[in-house]
Amino acid sequence: ETIGAMLTRIAARHPQRPALVVREQGVRMDYAGLDRAVDRLAAGLLGLGLEPGDRVGIWSPNRAEWVLMQFATARAGLILVNINPAYRTHELEYALTRVGCRALVLARRFKTSDYLALLREVAPELDACQPGHLAAARLPELREVIVLGGGGAIAGTRDFDAIAGCDDTASIGMLREVEAGLRPDDAVNIQFTSGTTGAPKGATLTHRNILNNGRFVGEAMRLTETDRLCIPVPFYHCFGMVLGNLACVTHGACMVIPGEGFDALATLETVAEERCTGLHGVPTMFIAELEHPRFGEFDLGSLRTGIMAGSPCPVEVMRKVVETMHMRDVTIAYGMTETSPVSFQTTPDDPLDRRVATVGRVHPHVEVRVVDGAGAVVPRGVAGELHTRGYSVMQGYWNDAERTAEVLDADGWMHTGDLAVVDGDGYCSIVGRLKDMLIRGGENVYPREIEEFLYAHPAIADVQVFGVPDAKYGEEVCAWVRLREGASLDAEALRDYCRGRIAHYKIPRYVRFVDGFPMTVTGKVQKYLMREAMAAGLA
Ligand code: ATP
Ligand code: MG
Repeated sequence: ETIGAMLTRIAARHPQRPALVVREQGVRMDYAGLDRAVDRLAAGLLGLGLEPGDRVGIWSPNRAEWVLMQFATARAGLILVNINPAYRTHELEYALTRVGCRALVLARRFKTSDYLALLREVAPELDACQPGHLAAARLPELREVIVLGGGGAIAGTRDFDAIAGCDDTASIGMLREVEAGLRPDDAVNIQFTSGTTGAPKGATLTHRNILNNGRFVGEAMRLTETDRLCIPVPFYHCFGMVLGNLACVTHGACMVIPGEGFDALATLETVAEERCTGLHGVPTMFIAELEHPRFGEFDLGSLRTGIMAGSPCPVEVMRKVVETMHMRDVTIAYGMTETSPVSFQTTPDDPLDRRVATVGRVHPHVEVRVVDGAGAVVPRGVAGELHTRGYSVMQGYWNDAERTAEVLDADGWMHTGDLAVVDGDGYCSIVGRLKDMLIRGGENVYPREIEEFLYAHPAIADVQVFGVPDAKYGEEVCAWVRLREGASLDAEALRDYCRGRIAHYKIPRYVRFVDGFPMTVTGKVQKYLMREAMAAGLA
């Protein structure tokens, strides 16, 4: 099945069930309405002359049009290219040229960014061109620029709403023809990785990859057409578009979007007022919600499930989410952009200790192995690099055979770069990233373990541990600490707290107190930037 056909099937089964709520825009659609809107937009895109296989970028925060684009491009055989809303000119140029986008759909602005102004910096030719005929020196393949949210008469661009309202019979005929030729193994989406460890990579994903992953994720959450899932995580990332949107649509559940960017208060309000049964987030989002001064004012009693993922989920945060947010069926998922993304997930049937302390067992139809530095499979209970294989593994990085070969071997195994331990019952714990593990004087140190330990300190709100170069030991342990409001702690007191409780070589030699950490827009902490900052300071 392809994604467009799947939506039609679900809409035929539950035409009147709510499909999409976008609170900030006041949008409410049922499944019949969503399917119709997607059909018109798909026809409109083909009507512009776009052809199956063409790459179409979307540069927008979470808006209803994003969801329409996600399904319309899939139905029209186009390849949607997710562009991070936080990108600026340099990264925009990188993303668009990297994959040769022929069209770009963009919002007018987000927070302090004026997207059109940023695009004009890269493509000053826009102002003088006819819509659909851009020929910019730095973006040679880009022809179409389509503006969301009342484009009106902006030079060189087209108005999204006009395309989305297409009822031209020739275009609809073309759409039906294209649809009939689509196959599950056709590429449907290029997603850039988060850029947590360096420059983002564009993973090419097929209908089979992401449709099935969304479906299995929803199954692990026990989603049905009566569920309402609050999705405050960004759509441009697989967390929003697969674990959120595709998990909902494959099960006929409703996508409930608070607004364009993450806001803890708006999320709490949305859950309470929309009676959401599920809520997604990365750990830092759940922490922000739990710590919000108005947390106690909201009735979150409708919540049952949701996913915490994207980075290590501290056990303490999980406990609070289960106890004070009523998310008794909350699940943890582990995955990566390159594998559609999820390969491990807990289910409500797993024993509680496993549900808070592990990322669960392997997903259906995914194979896994854990290997040592020499590539030999290690026994259960021993840490090594995690490899996965199956329907969910990407086709490759777009047009980048070299970087693809670094992670995808000839037998189809994806080398995740993550360190994992799988126990005798198949439950997996992620102990860190290969790149984050540090070796101090010959001892392997897993920053995650030290973070978990420090996280229990009453003065500490959040902490990140990483290695910095050291002449004597090779690497030394460094901790960046964010204190709770009103709490005080100094480096020596922190080390005193560690002494006698964790091994001496794990005690942070360097401690810096900070107000926040460098993060990707998905809320993932970029340790490589912190490491660079420390290394510059220590040099
Ligand atoms: P880049 O590859 O560009 O450096 P990234 O790896 O952060 O960035 P993503 O594909 O968005 O990009 O994230 C996948 C990674 O997130 C995984 O490889 C893993 O390190 C981490 N991760 C995801 N889920 C979990 C989890 N539940 N627990 C621990 N780590 C997780
Ligand atoms: Mg990665």
